[in-house]
Amino acid sequence: MHPKDAPLRTLDTLTFDNRYARLPPAFYRKLQPTPLAQPYLVSVSDDAAALLDLDPAEIRGERCLNLLAGNYLPPGADPLAMNYAGHQFGTLVPQLGDGRALLLGEIINARRERWTLQLKGAGETPFSRTADGRAVLRSTIREYLCSEAMHALGIPTTRALGIAGADEPVYRETPETAAVLLRLAPTNVRFGSFEVFYYRRELDYVKQLADHVIEEYFPQCTDASGAPGAYEQLLIEVIERTARLMAQWQAVGFCHGVMNTDNMSILGLTLDYGPYGFMEGFNPGHICNHSDTQGRYAYQNQPYIGLWNCSRLAQALTPLIPAESCNAALARYEGAYLEHYAALMRAKLGLTTVMQGDDGLINDLLTLLAEHQTDYTIFFRALGEIGDIDRARDEIINRAAFDAWAARYRERLAAENSNDTERRARMHAVNPKYVLRNHLAQIAIEKATQKDFSEVDRLLALLRRPFDEQPDNEAYASPPPDWAKNIEVSCSS
Ligand code: AMP
Ligand code: MG
Repeated sequence: MHPKDAPLRTLDTLTFDNRYARLPPAFYRKLQPTPLAQPYLVSVSDDAAALLDLDPAEIRGERCLNLLAGNYLPPGADPLAMNYAGHQFGTLVPQLGDGRALLLGEIINARRERWTLQLKGAGETPFSRTADGRAVLRSTIREYLCSEAMHALGIPTTRALGIAGADEPVYRETPETAAVLLRLAPTNVRFGSFEVFYYRRELDYVKQLADHVIEEYFPQCTDASGAPGAYEQLLIEVIERTARLMAQWQAVGFCHGVMNTDNMSILGLTLDYGPYGFMEGFNPGHICNHSDTQGRYAYQNQPYIGLWNCSRLAQALTPLIPAESCNAALARYEGAYLEHYAALMRAKLGLTTVMQGDDGLINDLLTLLAEHQTDYTIFFRALGEIGDIDRARDEIINRAAFDAWAARYRERLAAENSNDTERRARMHAVNPKYVLRNHLAQIAIEKATQKDFSEVDRLLALLRRPFDEQPDNEAYASPPPDWAKNIEVSCSS
């Protein structure tokens, strides 16, 4: 990952280039983090540190702890809270912004990649409204572990360097432990970053933001001669990335929980982990967010909501793109989604060719899984096993229906001369054995609250290799225990 001849860095030798901070002041408010008193290190990720070329010893040192806690700013940092709006649960909220996050700055690593360093939970900002600007240990651990796990699953996501905790209480439903997460991403620009200026009719700023995003992250949009204009290409690119991300979420069984437009990354990254969940018993109507009483963000709605959110982005870009071009761009979403989803699902079944009837085979299997809420991850992993797929059959209660489906599946495999050994390897490379089940996170959180962080580190290491058999960790691939059925995750974080 790290170029061999490039020196490892310490926090005081990072190369900052704060492009966002050079945009007009309407884009942000500059301010310093509010330090956490007597912080302690909860966990740091070596993989994430490598993105910044940081020396592994550095991230376990005092300076990094002070960085996480908001007590130390590396030379070149220029902290700011980003301004944005958003559609929350379908309703426009014209003013949101980073109420508890601070963008410390942007670094350029040895591979010339840009990474923003952002503290989440670093204290009040001008955008905090009535909230406290803090984050709790529970939600920072959930975001930290899941963002690193999603990366290992090959799903675009923000990353996380580490967490600092402190004993000062933060009040949610009950007093909780305060914590700060250091998040990394090429940019934190969201759909809502455009919406804030569009709804204020500050259309020059919509253009400046689009120019910034194109120049920095979508340079290919400016140099395709004869192709539609750069802004239209940007919209097309974002729509296609969003469609592909939704396909990846659906295929792995990830539910985001709060798909508001302020949580939609312009880069098509999974952003802002709150009440997310991985599908356990397969249920298309599954709602992972206890606060989502209407089920707007239920699993089966995610692809449609992705499109709805893209429409809100297109609306905010109408000052730059003719309406008919916006509609043409949006019309690409469904095809992009369906194509990518079908490809991912065929891969989950170990199929290497496209044949008529594949969609039916996939849909009928999902109907079967839904009938008795079969564990999604366990089932697909078992289906990859060699032989007569008995292990997968054990997961299905309606054996006769499964046998009928399995006969079709075997026929389909035979039609492409599938070899079982190769199929197993292919399937195990795309069907994870380990995902971050709520109860696993919950156990790690409970231990961490008692200042035992070993389980956080253990999960971090486990989820770094989600597709590998890890014989010592077999129990982590089990379905949730009975007590875990009562875990409720909400927007409270
Ligand atoms: P979320 O749903 O977590 O993405 O947050 C929606 C909005 O609420 C964003 O503007 C956040 O910055 C803000 N917010 C959430 N929690 C807090 C908090 N504890 N303090 C200040 N602002 C917050
Ligand atoms: Mg958010």
